[in-house]
Amino acid sequence: MRDGHAHLNEIEEIDQAVERAKAVGIKGILAVGMDIDSNRDTLSLARRFHCFVHPAIGYHPWSITLEGIDENLLFIEDAIRSCVAMGEVGLDYGARVKKKVQQEVFEKLLYIARKHDKPVIIHSRYSHHRTYSMAREAGIERAVFHWYSGPEDVLKELLGSGYFISATPALAYSPPHQEAMRIAPLEQILVETDSPVVYHGKRAEPADLVITLRELARIKNIPPEELARITTDNAESFYRHFAVE
Ligand SMILES: [Zn+2]
Repeated sequence: MRDGHAHLNEIEEIDQAVERAKAVGIKGILAVGMDIDSNRDTLSLARRFHCFVHPAIGYHPWSITLEGIDENLLFIEDAIRSCVAMGEVGLDYGARVKKKVQQEVFEKLLYIARKHDKPVIIHSRYSHHRTYSMAREAGIERAVFHWYSGPEDVLKELLGSGYFISATPALAYSPPHQEAMRIAPLEQILVETDSPVVYHGKRAEPADLVITLRELARIKNIPPEELARITTDNAESFYRHFAVE
């Protein structure tokens, strides 16, 4: 099992959380960043938990400030080589940053990802069609739309382009998220926790991947062990360097 998306830098008592993740059978965590500070922390966690925590760095639409754009892009351009993926990046039209600014930043990030042949971990809220079309126009081949709960027409288009969606513990209660998982073929689904997001009053940690798997197994009507094997294969082919140790 691989947790394909966790904000590990925001987790308190990280050693215990990593131990609990290993205890439930997790063999790797993809840690994501949102800005320079969290990207730095993510890179240092990947060094500390070598071969277990794999780093992705990004610039989240919630983190964009006009003064911060240049240095964030430079940081990513500089450090992306040593990362498994770019993320978390995307568009969020509910965020306070202007849409146009978000799009300019996202376009530059997609250019960097493509140049370095890195898969992109995408956050998209109230912006699904634009996020998808920008990834396509930038020539991105590997993208995962994380926690997909958007419209069905965009979902079908992105699946048709070979992109992935990922499932979170919100599958236990979110009808649009459940519907997306019903539609997507198993080969295009990754599993994750988005830790430390709070789901129904409980703060998630990577060990909660078992909740994601249990809920997805129920929706897809297959045994959780088989689902764990399939989604692990998916993660390894999607991220390429998500090695098992
Ligand atoms: Zn996230």
